[in-house]
Amino acid sequence: MDFEERLVADLEKLANQNLLRCLRPLQGRQQVRVQRGGRRLLNFSANDYLGLACHPKLQESALKALDRYGVGAGASRLVCGSLPPHEELEKELATWKNTDTALSFSSGYAAALGILPALASTGDVIILDKLSHASLVDGARLSRADLRVFPHNDLARLHRHLIWAQKNRPGRRIVIVTESIFSMDGDRPPLKEIIALKNDFGAVLLLDEAHAVGVLGKTGAGLVEEMHCGKEVEIQMGTLSKAIGASGGYVCGSRRLIDTLINRGRSFVFSTAPPACIAAAALEGIRIIRGREGTELRNRLWNNIRLFSKNLNVVAQSAILPWTIGEEAQAMEAASWLESQGYLAPAIRYPTVAKGRARIRFTLSATHSPLEIEGLTQSVQTFSPKSLFTEEERIACTL
Ligand SMILES: *Cc1c(COP(=O)(O)O)cnc(C)c1O
Repeated sequence: MDFEERLVADLEKLANQNLLRCLRPLQGRQQVRVQRGGRRLLNFSANDYLGLACHPKLQESALKALDRYGVGAGASRLVCGSLPPHEELEKELATWKNTDTALSFSSGYAAALGILPALASTGDVIILDKLSHASLVDGARLSRADLRVFPHNDLARLHRHLIWAQKNRPGRRIVIVTESIFSMDGDRPPLKEIIALKNDFGAVLLLDEAHAVGVLGKTGAGLVEEMHCGKEVEIQMGTLSKAIGASGGYVCGSRRLIDTLINRGRSFVFSTAPPACIAAAALEGIRIIRGREGTELRNRLWNNIRLFSKNLNVVAQSAILPWTIGEEAQAMEAASWLESQGYLAPAIRYPTVAKGRARIRFTLSATHSPLEIEGLTQSVQTFSPKSLFTEEERIACTL
C-alpha cells in the first residue's frame, strides 16, 4: 500500500466505527446564536461560559494592543518576545489566584505539555485521575516518569498508588494530577481529601481549573477559591480560552515553580510568545470576571444551570451537563436530531471519552435565556424521554 492508500484505509476504519470526525465551519461570531449553512442555531456546546469571547471590552483591549504592538510577538519570551501585556496578564493572574506569580503559555494544551516534563522525569511518579484531559495525559507521557492512573475520583486507589510510589520510588517527586471540573462529565474531584492524601505522602498536586475558572468561586477564580484551599495546591493551571474568552494557558504558583518552568518548560522556551493583543484581551477578561459584571454573569449562568438541571432532574456541579448515550452511532443521531431542531450540541466520541460512552455534552452560558433553555429541554425530552440520564449518571452527578 502506498502512502495515500494507507491513509484511506485508516480513515475508512474510523468511519466504520462511527469515529470519523470532520470540520464543519460556522458562519458569524462565536456566540450563543450561530449560523451553519445559512441556518440559525443555538449553541449549547461552547466553553465560553460567560459570553466574553465576543465582549466589546475584550475586543477593544485587543485592538488597542494590536495598534501598539502589532500582530506577531516576534520570538519566544526568553529571546525578545516578552511584552508589557504578558507581564500585566501574569501579575493579574497571580493576584487573582493569590499565588506568588504566574506564567502564560500559548494554549492550555501547551501549558500541560510544558509543566509535567519540567517537574518529573525518569524515576519520578505521576498519578492521574482516569478522566484527566488529553493534554495532561500527553504531558505526563512526555515526562518519562512512571505513570499511575486511578479510576475517576477513586481515593482508595489513589492511596494505593501513593503507597506504591513511596515504597518503590523513595525520595522521588510524586505529582498528583486532577481537574476542578472534568471536561466531559462536568463533575468535581474530592479536593479536600486529595489534598490530605497528598500532604500525608509529601506529594504535590497539579489542579487543572480549565472549566472552573469564571464559573466557581466568589470572584470566579475557580474551585480552590470556592474551597479556600489555594495555598494547598502547588500547581494551579488553566486556560485563557474558555470562560476568560481569549486564548492561551497559564500556571499559577510559587516563584520557584515559575522560574523552573521558564527554564525547563519546553513548550514555553521553544515557542513564540502569544500575540500581545491576545494577552491584553485575556487580561480584560479576567478583570471583568473579577468585577461586578463578572458576579452578575456568574449569577445568570448559575440560574441557567439550576433551571436546566431541574428540568433534567439531575444535580449539576458545573456548566457542563453530559447526556450519555453510549453507542457512537446513536449519539451522532441525537446530535443530528438536535441540529434539526435548531440546536448545536455535537456528539462527543472516543478518544475524547471512552468507547461506548459517547454523549452529547451540553454546556450552558450566562448569555442563554431561560426561554432558550426551556426550548432545549423540550427537544431533549422528545428525543428520548426515558433514557435521558441513567440511574448510574444520576448518582455520578450527585457525588
Ligand atoms: C480545554 C482544556 C485544556 C486545553 O486548553 P486550551 O487552551 O484549549 O489548549 C486543558 N485542560 C482541560 C481540562 C481542558 O478542558
